[in-house]
Amino acid sequence: MGRKLIIVLLLIGLVLIAAIWQRHRLLLPQITPGEPIPQLTDANPVPGGQPFAAEPHFSVVQLDEATYAIAEPHSWARNVNYLILGDERALLFDAGVGHYDIRPVVASLTDLPLTFMPSHFHYDHTGQGDWARIAVVDLPHVRERASDDRLTLTWGEHLGSGEGIELPTWEVTQWVAPNSAIELGGRSLVLLYTPGHTDNSVSLFDVERQLMFTGDFLTDNGSLSSFLPTARPGDFLQSADKVLARTREMQRMVFRGAHAGIENTIPASHREDLQTLRDGLIAIRDGDLTGAGSYPVVYTFKDGSTMTMEPGWLQQWEPTYADGHSVH
Ligand SMILES: [Zn+2]
Ligand SMILES: [Zn+2]
Repeated sequence: MGRKLIIVLLLIGLVLIAAIWQRHRLLLPQITPGEPIPQLTDANPVPGGQPFAAEPHFSVVQLDEATYAIAEPHSWARNVNYLILGDERALLFDAGVGHYDIRPVVASLTDLPLTFMPSHFHYDHTGQGDWARIAVVDLPHVRERASDDRLTLTWGEHLGSGEGIELPTWEVTQWVAPNSAIELGGRSLVLLYTPGHTDNSVSLFDVERQLMFTGDFLTDNGSLSSFLPTARPGDFLQSADKVLARTREMQRMVFRGAHAGIENTIPASHREDLQTLRDGLIAIRDGDLTGAGSYPVVYTFKDGSTMTMEPGWLQQWEPTYADGHSVH
């Protein structure tokens, strides 16, 4: 083989390696416009929802005397954000894309001091604008980047360039350790680290109510994903195992995810849905479930819901943090 041919093959190899390394940077502009995505004009109304008078983009559903879902039925993502009230404090779990300001909706429902906490750092959950109090999960790989409690998200964590949204820098007022409780006054929310969709995904567990807010870890809109930057199928499986174990014997458990389906019903999943997710992940790992497409690959579970992943040779099944680590 001539020396020139060897050099050409080496260069092609290097380009391929770089393309695989930067695959998400190459993919995102193909699937997002780089500017705000238009609202859905023919969205189904939210069952039981009350459109917010000043901004009918939002629809409010009262789930119990101290828990509200603030849905965005006209958004492409059909986000559902949750306002969780205690006697002394309120917590907003997710804030949507932020093209519409959720803060007046929250102010119309409570005058308690408000803390914002994202279920994870994707831009369709972090909203836009300032928050007086922001709580963020205390994870080694996140905390080490914050100086003076200022945290700037990375491109791969946020992905807001898909709609032309700049990376936020937060003044974190509360670092919440996994397995510790956020006290709202007469109401406790235990923070569980539930990675897999991203490596910063968390769920909030109201043990007394047998209620868990799960972000994009578990939602019943029919599609989950573990293929964007920082996603890891091994983390997803570990999270499913953990939440199944923590909720054993809790037959009333309801999981409230962050995206509604086309009917715009407020998400409500149950332990059997979580079991289906866990069984499906194991089947993917063991090669017993075949996906459709080449990149990304879409796997269909037995209940018809889907899991979007990278192809098998890029799937990482070792969890980021071992089971015994303090984050678990
Ligand atoms: Zn997400
Ligand atoms: Zn999401």
